[in-house]
Amino acid sequence: MRLTAKARMAVGALAIGFVATACGGGGDAGTVTEHAAEGNLTIGVRYDQPGLGLRQPDGTLTGFDIAVAEYVADQLGVTPENITFREAPSAQRETLIENGEVDYIVATYSITDARKEKVDFAGPYFTAGQSLLVREDNTDITGPESLNDGKRLCSVTGSTPAQRVKDEYAQDVQLQEFDTYSACVEALRNGAVDAVTTDDVILAGFAAQSPGEFKLVGEPFSTENYGIGLALGDDTSRSAINDAIEEMISSGAWADAFETNLGPSGYAMPEPPTVDRY
Ligand code: GLU
Repeated sequence: MRLTAKARMAVGALAIGFVATACGGGGDAGTVTEHAAEGNLTIGVRYDQPGLGLRQPDGTLTGFDIAVAEYVADQLGVTPENITFREAPSAQRETLIENGEVDYIVATYSITDARKEKVDFAGPYFTAGQSLLVREDNTDITGPESLNDGKRLCSVTGSTPAQRVKDEYAQDVQLQEFDTYSACVEALRNGAVDAVTTDDVILAGFAAQSPGEFKLVGEPFSTENYGIGLALGDDTSRSAINDAIEEMISSGAWADAFETNLGPSGYAMPEPPTVDRY
């Protein structure tokens, strides 16, 4: 096939685009603070989690994680219009950071030892716990043990809750894994699954989005410390992000962001965690 000159140029531009993407979120292989000094940051967030990270039809993003992402960026000297947001689904978070496609990730991202082998974490900036969401009229699911008679449970690939169910409760539960929590909630709505499991703060946001349809059941059965994920070994940036989180908490901006974004769901405001400068 012969390409016209215009088509050849288009193909060339595409190839250059690929190279630029592969080089990193900020367009080169620099650290978070280096990219911030250049004036731009690329941040991984959620697009489909009400109260935490939600993309509106007009493209704007709202939620507690978005507020944390923007507060940290501001402390690093980057204004909101110079942030490029990117969707960071559960299973892609480590890879997005390792490939340099994002500078950091604020996406209900639990700090775990397994993940710390691939990425580093600033924070924690929030503590949640795993719970269950069921349809409002359900009466037989009361906690993780009650799933053990073949109930269909949805969670998200690459998440800590899915892993915990597999490790501790999966004997007789039918675990279905999707890429996003919104897909799980849709499956719960239409009866394809009996329950959705993940962190209580995420489930509370979905329950509030559809009043009268869903409810959380049982006590939280894990501790999920949310961190801001960044490249392994970028200690200067991690320290600067930890400073920003501490400032957000001590200035009252953390509590304000909670009230604005998570207060309406009825989720009780927890104590802000203490940053762990490991
Ligand atoms: N906090 C858990 C995790 O990082 C669940 C929420 C999520 O998948 O984003 O895996």
